[in-house]
Amino acid sequence: MRLGIPPGGCAAKTVQPPAGTQETIIHLLIDCPQHDAIREDLQQELQMSLCRDSASIILGDDSTRDALKKFCVKVATKAIGRNKASNQDS
Ligand SMILES: [Zn+2]
Repeated sequence: MRLGIPPGGCAAKTVQPPAGTQETIIHLLIDCPQHDAIREDLQQELQMSLCRDSASIILGDDSTRDALKKFCVKVATKAIGRNKASNQDS
């Protein structure tokens, strides 16, 4: 999966991630402060923290997979929208 993320790195404005943080898929899904709110909603729904270790467990469980897929689509949609907007600015 490729989102066409520009080389500028994380675009978070309210909470600054460590300098040089790249907007990789893992960063967007697990670490990016821009998605804290919808990540928290997912974690509440699953009653489980989303991290590198739990992602495979969540994906492997029929009862939690769909919620993670919906979260991934929301994150990807937001990231693509940001990239489109930033490409139009330049
Ligand atoms: Zn970020």
